[in-house]
Amino acid sequence: MRHEVFEEWIFNGESLSEKEVESLQLHLGICESCNLHYRAKSEVEGLFKSEKLSTPIVGFASRWRKRLMDKSHLERVHKHRHLSIFSLLLTSGIATIMLVPLVIYANQNLEPPIRYLIGVVNNLVDIYLFIKIIQLIITTFLKVIVLIVPISYWLLMMAIFSTLCFIWLYTLKPLSSNWRAS
Ligand SMILES: [Zn+2]
Repeated sequence: MRHEVFEEWIFNGESLSEKEVESLQLHLGICESCNLHYRAKSEVEGLFKSEKLSTPIVGFASRWRKRLMDKSHLERVHKHRHLSIFSLLLTSGIATIMLVPLVIYANQNLEPPIRYLIGVVNNLVDIYLFIKIIQLIITTFLKVIVLIVPISYWLLMMAIFSTLCFIWLYTLKPLSSNWRAS
């Protein structure tokens, strides 16, 4: 008999008659090629029947779905928590800002609010004047330096300064990437 028939019998093992099983067993005893087919088929069948492979497949989908749902639920909880913390901070921040004038007003021996406003404006003017004075000092300083220091020295200083800036930038770059990596 030809190998094809036995190969077919090997893969349709359940629907064989007693005589066919007997001749198949006989052929398997003498034919290496069909024996190989038979062993391969038995191994595959064994794999499908084994507990190790079939058990995870059974509950896999439902477990996966449960895990996904748990994850999204946790994410939602976290998001909600972040949102409530943020709104709490925002509300308390606004409350504090609104409380500051009240406290100042109370400390100023119940002076009318216009006094407080004048005080704020005065403070702002003071800050503005301070900035203006600093600006004036810096520009005067620069003008004097430009006048005093010869142009060649000035260029040399600028070159040194820009070189230092470059060195600083190039040493900072790997450092910052190290910080990000760690
Ligand atoms: Zn054969």
